[in-house]
Amino acid sequence: MRLMGGRLCLDFLNTNAFRSGTPREWLTTYDQLLTFAARTAALEPAELETLRGVSLEHPKQAAAVTELARTWREALYNAVVRSPAQTDLQTLNAVIAAAHTHRQLSHTQDGYAWTWTAPHLELPLWAIALDAAALLADGLATRVRTCPGHDCGWVFLDAGRGKPRRWCAMDLCGNRAKIKEFRSKHQVKQS
Ligand SMILES: [Zn+2]
Repeated sequence: MRLMGGRLCLDFLNTNAFRSGTPREWLTTYDQLLTFAARTAALEPAELETLRGVSLEHPKQAAAVTELARTWREALYNAVVRSPAQTDLQTLNAVIAAAHTHRQLSHTQDGYAWTWTAPHLELPLWAIALDAAALLADGLATRVRTCPGHDCGWVFLDAGRGKPRRWCAMDLCGNRAKIKEFRSKHQVKQS
């Protein structure tokens, strides 16, 4: 999967890809959730390794967390792209609250840092939840765009500097749209 959301929580939304076409679920196993957390550097490699071990020991819980992650992701999609229902906010807040509960300040060689209190299976989701909470609380949901490309629908943050960003990626939907535009102009000239 490509990371083009510009924010951890938006890349997470794109794990349910091509929403405006044929949706493709990318988050099918707990291992995929860990892969996502590794690709986005949401967690440290050592944390990921520990969680992989825990998930192998507790496969049922890992499957339940994967299910929760998918439900939570859809609540976030509603909050960011549509207008959220009360149940969406409850779903979002439950995970955000859990994330806050399990965070602590630790003293390291370089000073203080946020760490997690225990290697809980929900850790990847908590990291994403804190990013989502910051995005929403900072009023950045208004800057989230949905790619209008054919069969796309990926979400991304428009940084708001210079030219507005229209496409998820220029080398994907942007170029495709350009080619389509070129072809339709060419056909008009021929006829
Ligand atoms: Zn696109």
